[in-house]
Amino acid sequence: MSLLEQYQAHLDFIQQQGLQRSCITSNMLAGASIERDGQAVVDFCSNDYLGFSKHPKLLQAAQQALSSYGLGTGGSRLIGGTHPLHVQLEKAVCHFKKTEAALLFNTGYQGNLTVITALADRHSVIYSDKLNHASIVDGCLLSRAKIIRYPHLDLDFLERALQQTPSKTLKLIITDSVFSMDGDIAPLKALFALAERYDALLLIDEAHGTGVFGQEKHSGVWETTGLTSDRVLQFGTFSKALGGFGAYLAGHSTLIETCIQRGRGFIYSTSLPASICAANLAALQLLQVDKEPVERLWQNIRHFNHHAENLGVTASSPIIPLPAKENAMILAQALFESGFFVQAIRPPTVPEARLRITLSAKHTFSQIEGLIAVLSLMTESVL
Ligand SMILES: *Cc1c(COP(=O)(O)O)cnc(C)c1O
Repeated sequence: MSLLEQYQAHLDFIQQQGLQRSCITSNMLAGASIERDGQAVVDFCSNDYLGFSKHPKLLQAAQQALSSYGLGTGGSRLIGGTHPLHVQLEKAVCHFKKTEAALLFNTGYQGNLTVITALADRHSVIYSDKLNHASIVDGCLLSRAKIIRYPHLDLDFLERALQQTPSKTLKLIITDSVFSMDGDIAPLKALFALAERYDALLLIDEAHGTGVFGQEKHSGVWETTGLTSDRVLQFGTFSKALGGFGAYLAGHSTLIETCIQRGRGFIYSTSLPASICAANLAALQLLQVDKEPVERLWQNIRHFNHHAENLGVTASSPIIPLPAKENAMILAQALFESGFFVQAIRPPTVPEARLRITLSAKHTFSQIEGLIAVLSLMTESVL
């Protein structure tokens, strides 16, 4: 077989399995109503939970910074690419997360690779929930640490593994706070208690918690515990509820400094554009002054739960998985034809195929009821 034939054979195999992935084009990204293939549909798959991606305050901040400072930064953070807006945004993240230090990354994916490889090496042991995001899985592999992937939320398993690790070994527990494909919440208090008992660091990925959970600042699920600790690192992104782009790590200055000195994705990559930093700053500000979007989102989550009883699912976050087995693609297509854009998620992204529904502050009650009505009809026939 020629080189190209070998690659083609792999592609053919993926297609035969019915697992081919493709990008769906929409000229109106992220919003309660979007247009796709010339058809108006209600968007139930975006992570833009608060509708911030189109908020005038964010757009204005980005536009102003763009005209004042230009597009690219021309360098990495350590080689001329640090703009005052990076520093301001890092300060704002500290304030938001109540930590003494914070560091920006270009994306959540790149950030997890950078942070995990900076904090762990071949002498460390990492304990990672089996359903953690792919960027955590990849960061663990790249670190060359010993990796223990514990069964989803199985804290007994985790504790036994911690017990069996020599006390002098550097230990790092990593968990999503809100699991990105299942929408369930990690028991952070209990994980923190284990981290304390076995002297481990706890790295929490708040990609889907930021801007959604937390009574006062809406900074994430960690906020709901009321705890603060030097052994906890709060990672998160600006790319989901905050409507922007990029990621951050917040925590003790020694650990942040370690990521500056050893984080290859930080050292060897051009910094975030100033316009993006300005928008992210505006998002953090907006979140503190306008409580309506978060309240509205939670009203929608409660409204969904109130009407979705017969679907056999209860949302505990804006992410709702609906098991669909081999019917996932057909169901997604049928939903689309009924005016609802819901993404089917299949292996290997998740162990079992599902529809992944996401709710937003921008949805109306009648849009949510409409989706549930169509889903209920389908449930009777195929699910
Ligand atoms: C989306 C996501 C990421 C990746 O963030 P990007 O900014 O999209 O690269 C990382 N971790 C979790 C848990 C996520 O859901």
